[in-house]
Amino acid sequence: MAITEAEAFLECRCGACRIILCDPTVRARTECLCRDCRKRSVNFAMRRADNALAAAILNYERGVDLLYFANALVVDQASRDRLEFSKLASNAANITAMSTCCGTLMCGIHPMFEGNTISVNADSCCVTTAARIDTQIVVFTCDAPEAAAKAIEAERAAPVISNVFEALEHPAIMAFVDAIRAPIRDAVRSPGATSFEELCAGRTIRVDSRN
Ligand SMILES: [Zn+2]
Ligand SMILES: [Zn+2]
Repeated sequence: MAITEAEAFLECRCGACRIILCDPTVRARTECLCRDCRKRSVNFAMRRADNALAAAILNYERGVDLLYFANALVVDQASRDRLEFSKLASNAANITAMSTCCGTLMCGIHPMFEGNTISVNADSCCVTTAARIDTQIVVFTCDAPEAAAKAIEAERAAPVISNVFEALEHPAIMAFVDAIRAPIRDAVRSPGATSFEELCAGRTIRVDSRN
């Protein structure tokens, strides 16, 4: 698949790093107020003057917009060379791929995705796909100040789950887990497709705890 033909792709803020999504389908969409998403967003904002963190996120008026896609990717060598991998702590479960050109959070993985999905912070990364869906759940308001969490609970149409770890039986969380663990359909794989894990294999994973 040539880059110009791609119908769905992730692009960094400066345009030098691009990841083609073999499957344009948005598997899930959440709004996340967790400490780690916030820390990664702050790291992103610190990398370059142009990488502003939205005031609404900074003020806990909303969480970051997370989109989830099938972990079947096409990435050319120039873009591979611009990916840097990091974790927020040596024992952290998430691994994030950031572009070295401009510090964009390109995508990430978590063991609970079981290799089938990547998460994308759409407040940092530019996402192009025709397939958009509404936010399905708002999560981790437990990490926001109480007044902010209450305001978000009152305003959102989607279910608000304060602490996901205490709500694993909630139907919206179960539906989310099913969506992100769904196998990648063979039909969407392009020749030359890779995965986040393959891109990361053999690379240094930096521990980036700056906040
Ligand atoms: Zn860039
Ligand atoms: Zn989060």
